[in-house]
Amino acid sequence: MRMVLIGPPGSGKGTQAVRLVERFKIPHISTGEMLQAAVAERTELGKKAGAFMRSGHLVPEGLVLPMAFERLSTPDCRPGFILDGFPRTQPQAEELNAELKRQNLALDVVLVIELPDELILERNTGRRSDPVTGAIHQLKFKPPPSSVAGRLVQRQDDTTEAVAARLARYHAEADSITSFYLKECILLRVDGKLGFEEYLADFCGCNLLKIQGMEKVVSPVAHVTLVHGAGRAAIYN
Ligand code: ADP
Repeated sequence: MRMVLIGPPGSGKGTQAVRLVERFKIPHISTGEMLQAAVAERTELGKKAGAFMRSGHLVPEGLVLPMAFERLSTPDCRPGFILDGFPRTQPQAEELNAELKRQNLALDVVLVIELPDELILERNTGRRSDPVTGAIHQLKFKPPPSSVAGRLVQRQDDTTEAVAARLARYHAEADSITSFYLKECILLRVDGKLGFEEYLADFCGCNLLKIQGMEKVVSPVAHVTLVHGAGRAAIYN
């Protein structure tokens, strides 16, 4: 299973990735995490990439692509992988396709977790962490006990302005790659409002079949819609 996972900040992508790793026994590859590790370890890549990351820019393709492709060429990726945060631009998506093609491979599915912006704002801005225990609470959905409520702190990038800015950037990036994959490959849109337990059970209980030349497939699971590109599509049954 070769998969790209796309979702707005706070959509539960990380949780979803953990479950997919367990289900498919393939690595979860997050370019954001790899770059942050490179910065923390002060590697050559980290030194070059850090400045872009701190100023809120994407790291240039010349640094990201070799890093991603080197990771994808390691033996644990042979049975497949779950890419997270890559590709983030259309050129990256094109390069990934070309790289896979060189190896006679292709992506199986691009999974997009969809969630209304209002809910993302509500989820992120209501997030608080406990500096003593490290526990994360959500003021509305997972309220903290009154004994700790007074000491909770909000992350700087969880303010309304910061979340709105991250969302705008997410939409710009996600639109450019999802429209590419609409033409090129397959998109599986999943309703992020549903509990992950619910839809992952559906997702994992199904077999992914590639079907040639389909227009649009509404899966037997009502909340999962499959949209495909030219010639390749997927259906879960
Ligand atoms: P964020 O929510 O800030 O995007 P990530 O952990 O996904 O968090 O990424 C951290 C930073 O790493 C990004 O802000 C960006 O600068 C860089 N980055 C991650 N993935 C890519 C990519 N595919 N292309 C370019 N830059 C990337």
